[in-house]
Amino acid sequence: MTRNYDIIVIGGGMLGLSTAYHLARMGARILLLQAGDIGGGSSAACAGRAQVAEGKLDPFSLAVIREGFSRLQTLEDELGMPFEFRRTGLLVLINSEQHWDEWSERAKVLTNAGIPTEMLDQRALQEAEPYLDTAEYLGAAYAIEGWLNPFLYCWAFAKAAQRHKATLLPYSPVTKMYREGKKITAVESQGRRYCADKYIVMCGAWTAAVLQLAGVDLPVYFTHAQAFITDPVPQTLINTIALANFYDLIHGKDQAVAVGFNQDAYGALIVTEAVEKTSQLHTNTNARGLAGISTDLLKLYPDLANVNIVRAWGVPTPFTPDEDPIIGWVPGCDNLFVAAGFMQTITSVPVVSEWMAQMILGNEFPVNLRPYSPTRFIL
Ligand SMILES: Cc1cc2nc3c(=O)[nH]c(=O)nc-3n(C[C@H](O)[C@H](O)[C@H](O)COP(=O)(O)OP(=O)(O)OC[C@H]3O[C@@H](n4cnc5c(N)ncnc54)[C@H](O)[C@@H]3O)c2cc1C
Repeated sequence: MTRNYDIIVIGGGMLGLSTAYHLARMGARILLLQAGDIGGGSSAACAGRAQVAEGKLDPFSLAVIREGFSRLQTLEDELGMPFEFRRTGLLVLINSEQHWDEWSERAKVLTNAGIPTEMLDQRALQEAEPYLDTAEYLGAAYAIEGWLNPFLYCWAFAKAAQRHKATLLPYSPVTKMYREGKKITAVESQGRRYCADKYIVMCGAWTAAVLQLAGVDLPVYFTHAQAFITDPVPQTLINTIALANFYDLIHGKDQAVAVGFNQDAYGALIVTEAVEKTSQLHTNTNARGLAGISTDLLKLYPDLANVNIVRAWGVPTPFTPDEDPIIGWVPGCDNLFVAAGFMQTITSVPVVSEWMAQMILGNEFPVNLRPYSPTRFIL
């Protein structure tokens, strides 16, 4: 069966769903093709943090985070569905003078940009987190960020898109793209062809593989990350915990553990992550990763020794060579748009997706997304 749409969005993670919502809201006839369940890639596998403090510090990135975080406060009303958004404290634990100095500078820049961040010495850190073993830490940087339920976040965008007449087809992987010269003419999924004027690839870690169906090579890489969630326990964490040396721990390593964790509204601990370099896109977990995360969690919170892990998961997560997102029309293929590789994705999505929808429709929008164009990788 063939049916025509204005735009076909390929990929139903938070990026594809939020963009489909804005496009449909702006009046475009949208078909979204998603390989698995709604949100079933990295999006539903993530820790649910609406991060504000750990990204790049250039003026554009800071503006995105400030506006995105502000937009999150009212997004449940806009989408017409709650996704458990709440504001939480973030403590970025610091174990070296070098990171203390770096975060002191970062705190100034963030605060000046309207993202208040302060430095806590070891004593203040212990007061803020009574059960944390602070022995190895000089202190922490503190900011207010958010937490939300990532499954519901994806579904809220999906439902809102449907209300604006978007058609969403889960379990519909795109397996073929038909290209004539500079245009995509159709895509194929489950033996059916679908046609539209424009095609959008928002496939996270799978982006490079999907673009290759159109003969396009773009460097969207991925690491594999493992995480788990525990049984509910009495309140042990007051804040979300992250590590200042996160990137030192994982960069350039084939396997590494860099823990981050929070306690959700029901008392469960969501604990991330063990990362692995691999060329395989898969969703496996292994004993090495889970043991590594548990060991590091217990060093910080020894009282959690007898907590049960109820579910563990692994998922590929995308990044680009310069760690900036890729956003824009694919050079040499006039009706193919791509976006992937965001940092602090949950916070960025509410505003960036709206701008991307305007860009895809050829409308005016208030920012310059050209620095993120795929042209920087395809000459
Ligand atoms: C353990 C972990 C914790 C994280 N924690 C956070 C956090 O707290 N906060 C935060 O902001 N970010 C976090 N992230 C990162 C975040 O999850 C990602 O940046 C984000 O989910 C990417 O969204 P996306 O829509 O681009 O990709 P995805 O969510 O991966 O969506 C892409 C979709 O494309 C689909 N797809 C693939 N191939 C095809 C095809 N051929 N046809 C159709 N569909 C296809 C996939 O099934 C997938 O659902 C975390 C990541 C991990 C792994």
